[in-house]
Amino acid sequence: MKAIQIRKTGGPEVMELVDLPVPRPAAGQVLVKIEVSGVNFIDVYLREGRYPAELPFVPGQEAAGTVAELGAGVSGFAVGDRVAWNGTRGTYAEFACAPAAQLLKVPAGMSSVEAAGCLLQGLTAHYLAHDAHAIQAGETVLIHAGAGGVGLLLTQMAKRLGARVLTTASSQQKAELSLAAGADKVILYTVESFVEEVKRQTDGDGLPVVYDSVGRTTFDDSLKCLRPRGLLVLFGASSGAVPALDPIRLMAGSLYLTRPTLKDYVRTRSELERRAADVFGWVASGALNVRVGATYRLAEVRQAHIDLTGRKTSGKVLLMI
Ligand code: NDP
Repeated sequence: MKAIQIRKTGGPEVMELVDLPVPRPAAGQVLVKIEVSGVNFIDVYLREGRYPAELPFVPGQEAAGTVAELGAGVSGFAVGDRVAWNGTRGTYAEFACAPAAQLLKVPAGMSSVEAAGCLLQGLTAHYLAHDAHAIQAGETVLIHAGAGGVGLLLTQMAKRLGARVLTTASSQQKAELSLAAGADKVILYTVESFVEEVKRQTDGDGLPVVYDSVGRTTFDDSLKCLRPRGLLVLFGASSGAVPALDPIRLMAGSLYLTRPTLKDYVRTRSELERRAADVFGWVASGALNVRVGATYRLAEVRQAHIDLTGRKTSGKVLLMI
């Protein structure tokens, strides 16, 4: 099968298109013929060596396709079922094995593009809006990178919950996309201070919560946007990792900081199914719009990473296998 392999960590050039044997499903696993693979920042962090991984490996951890073979002991799935999963590596390839425990059936009427397009980012937006902080109707919240994959979905979910949503974006074109997703106000953080604008928008009070996936370049100012006892949800590092922090800084308003990760919010099969049922259900009914920002062939994967990290994309980035 055709697959992308990483033999040493580094820039996009370390991703090589190779021929590999089709993997065999171990007990509890399912072999899936992949149609669409998600391209996510976590793939970049692993490729660069920022997150550890044993070499060599096939990157990618989110995909949709059809079941090709069942490993021993798997029940509830059959060859030919349309499925999607997030959380097990190897999806930049024509086939991959996933644990049945992570596998979700794709509802009839939902395409593989939609399924791979909403899974990782949709589950993330779901736990951010409902659990990392439970957004209350009438609250004003700030979502950085509002035109990004997570940003567009989180904005829609926050609006669903009745929030007033402020977002940031780097260009007018991205601002339009964020507004179309429901943002009440987009701050062009590359040309204006989002701290000042948040103060203006909240009559100086500050915000109960800031969702920050940008990291290094926004973190300090995000803290300044919070009202006393406000929460900073730092959930990504698109601009780089945030340096070590002295807890005394949280005394500027008895602030809270959390650094959540998706796997801790889909810890049980029932939690995964509950979140996925909401996300798939909203997408299927049209209540949640998944914007596919860019698609690439497997052989174009280097460009996909360059565009994602170069702020060229808005919405979901997918590999069409
Ligand atoms: P996005 O589509 O949001 O892409 C990243 C965006 O970040 C860019 O488009 C850009 O928007 C903004 N950005 C600001 N500064 C930079 C910079 N220096 N370099 C690159 N981008 C920058 O990506 P995703 O929606 O896929 O992911 C968003 C973040 O969420 C990532 O950091 C990812 O790691 C994290 N994440 C975390 C999860 C968790 O559970 N903790 C799960 C899923 C994702 P603009 O041009 O408007 O500034």
